[in-house]
Amino acid sequence: MNDVDVLVVGAGVAGLAAARLLESYSRFVTVVDKGRSVGGRLATRRIDEARLDHGAQFFTQRGPEMQSLVEELLDEEVATEWCRGFGGTDDGHPRYVVPGGMTGLAKFLAEALEDVRCGVEVRSVTQRDRGWTVEWDGGSVQAGAVLLTSPVPQSLALMDAGGVQLDPGVRSGLEAVEYDPTIALLVLLDRPSAVPAPGGVQLTEGPFSWVADNMAKGVSEFPALTLHCDPVTSQALWGAEPQEVLDELLPAASEWFGEAEVLEAQVKTWRYAIPTTTWPEPYCTAVDGDWPLVLAGDAFDGPKVEGAYRSGMAAGVRLNRSGVTS
Ligand SMILES: Cc1cc2nc3c(=O)[nH]c(=O)nc-3n(C[C@H](O)[C@H](O)[C@H](O)COP(=O)(O)OP(=O)(O)OC[C@H]3O[C@@H](n4cnc5c(N)ncnc54)[C@H](O)[C@@H]3O)c2cc1C
Repeated sequence: MNDVDVLVVGAGVAGLAAARLLESYSRFVTVVDKGRSVGGRLATRRIDEARLDHGAQFFTQRGPEMQSLVEELLDEEVATEWCRGFGGTDDGHPRYVVPGGMTGLAKFLAEALEDVRCGVEVRSVTQRDRGWTVEWDGGSVQAGAVLLTSPVPQSLALMDAGGVQLDPGVRSGLEAVEYDPTIALLVLLDRPSAVPAPGGVQLTEGPFSWVADNMAKGVSEFPALTLHCDPVTSQALWGAEPQEVLDELLPAASEWFGEAEVLEAQVKTWRYAIPTTTWPEPYCTAVDGDWPLVLAGDAFDGPKVEGAYRSGMAAGVRLNRSGVTS
């Protein structure tokens, strides 16, 4: 007898989208995440009185899959349109933000779910007769099916820890998935920044690929910038002490400060930030059949919030087709 129909590892966009879909089909689902709260790379940090998005900065909806969610988010005033391009361009495609921070999107997706547990770091996933055992320090769950939405190298490690036998083609495809890291600088200023309207700049030359003014985005009531390093700079400074990163990068960032003084600066690192080599389908069925093990996330359907959402929804449809029962 299983405790749940589906155990979802990861309360980022993909895991939460899948869980919502499965619960709408009356499946019993538990979502676990090692983070202190839901969101994964939808991450908002509070520093003193300021708030800063330090992972995803905005989201888009170019295909039809996310349309009804976006309508819901706008109706409920969870999200708002920020702009339709940066650097004076308008490509006609809305960029949406969440006033108060991008974690608000994950909280919205999670709020109606039955069982979401944060602070739970899964250690292994082991196949049994008619299901799976998912273990963490001090606990475990018996599930009919498992959905892994952790970054793919971490999902592989969980399967290896439980001795899951993978088809060699599946294993080599998953091992080929790669991610760029990102180093983020979070900077509090004593007055408004010099970042031009609409408050975001995409850059093609390093060390930064992106600068955002969280006040202009409606995330913070106090001047606070998020700067993302480009992949080359992030690789070069990976593992450096935060102070070393700040010493190296704050001078280059100062053009965005204008007349403002820096009140506080912090560094946040994302080891698995942006998938660069991806899986060719919206999800991966690592173990097929009535008691499946499926992988999903932005490495499967595009390195964006929208791609992660699509992947989670597609994986949810697949898992609902299986014979999982509690
Ligand atoms: C710096 C940065 C900037 C970005 N900017 C944008 C942007 O502007 N627009 C956009 O659309 N996209 C952006 N993205 C990409 C976007 O954030 C991701 O595509 C999307 O959030 C991925 O969602 P996910 O559910 O696939 O993965 P994640 O959000 O990474 O969720 C995976 C979850 O698994 C959990 N987990 C991992 N291992 C375990 C374990 N062993 N046990 C329990 N839980 C575990 C993690 O804690 C995490 O919460 C950005 C990403 C980064 C890092």
